Amino acid sequence: MTNRAEVVINLSAIKSNVATLKAKAGVDLMAVVKADAYGHGLVPVAKAALDGGATWLGVALLEEAIALRAAGITAPILAWLVPSGSDFQSAVDKDIDLAVSSIKALDEIRALKGAKRPRIHLEVDTGMTRGGFLSECCEIDINHLQGVEIVGIFSHFARADEPGQAQNLEQLNRFKKMVANLDSLGFTNLIRHLSNSAATLVDHTSAFDMVRTGIAMYGLTPDLNHLGTSQSLGLKPAMTLRAKLHLVKAVPAGSPVGYGATEKTKSETKLGIVAMGYADGIPRIAKGAGIFFNGKRAPIIGRVSMDQFVVNLGAQSSAQTGDWVTIFGPGDAGEYTADDWGGASGSINYEIVTRIGPRVPRIYEL
Ligand SMILES: *Cc1c(COP(=O)(O)O)cnc(C)c1O
Repeated sequence: MTNRAEVVINLSAIKSNVATLKAKAGVDLMAVVKADAYGHGLVPVAKAALDGGATWLGVALLEEAIALRAAGITAPILAWLVPSGSDFQSAVDKDIDLAVSSIKALDEIRALKGAKRPRIHLEVDTGMTRGGFLSECCEIDINHLQGVEIVGIFSHFARADEPGQAQNLEQLNRFKKMVANLDSLGFTNLIRHLSNSAATLVDHTSAFDMVRTGIAMYGLTPDLNHLGTSQSLGLKPAMTLRAKLHLVKAVPAGSPVGYGATEKTKSETKLGIVAMGYADGIPRIAKGAGIFFNGKRAPIIGRVSMDQFVVNLGAQSSAQTGDWVTIFGPGDAGEYTADDWGGASGSINYEIVTRIGPRVPRIYEL
């Protein structure tokens, strides 16, 4: 056990979530493990996801894909944030599939001289207006597609977590058109993938040949307001963040707490000092979250500092210096969840889990 704080990752929860999502989708599942597997740890999560039935891994950066290969993982990997100027030769040498969303990058990939044929997925912009080719793939001259193996075509939803939004259907229809265009050019056997977690959970018409699930695989709801809690979706949150109380102290009423003295104790109470702060990913603006100890929540009092924050344990608390407390977890025992922390920070669970800093060790439970 570490001295200060630790992230505990339940790998069987990840396996179970993958199985649940795959059953829902009814097609292949790409486990999205970018950003250190959303803060859960790239390699252990990738292995658990493959154990759970994922057949592909998806990452943003080429470095992430290379790290997976360096760990001995042989499953197909797609990296989608690989701009022109990237080390495409290393990617191709390591059997990493590349997303292509510009002619410039495509030309660089085609110009490679290695023995292996580059494998690419065409990224198309169906309305999110981020990466991807815009017009119905017509700007890609067929000659530009020689010399590479086109493995797939994909796009990304902007509002899949809002099932009623017209934009979802518009994106789906544009995607179908772009697929049909490529089909008519003779590219008939492409892996078509469009759905993220939210679409996988609520929109079966967008599953095509494969879904790309991130947040839901970690057991977290893509959108608390529109899709409900993790529990209601049958998901198991995999991450628990725990910390040791660095100090417990009794203080009188009227004690100003932390930088700026933004809050004072209203009555005599016990405060707990947690040795985690915004440098570890505890949002400085969090209000209304805190810790859980011995069946009770204790809210943050005062400002979060770089390495510490303070919670109001209450006058009757039995907590002692050195006790371990839960900052967030699955929520089953009444502890705060990543959703709660997201809400308390004007943000979302994605940001809470991905920003837990590298100085917090990850501990894996099977
Ligand atoms: C991050 C990402 C995903 C996964 O999104 P979730 O909402 O976490 O499921 C899928 N596809 C692409 C292109 C992404 O960037």
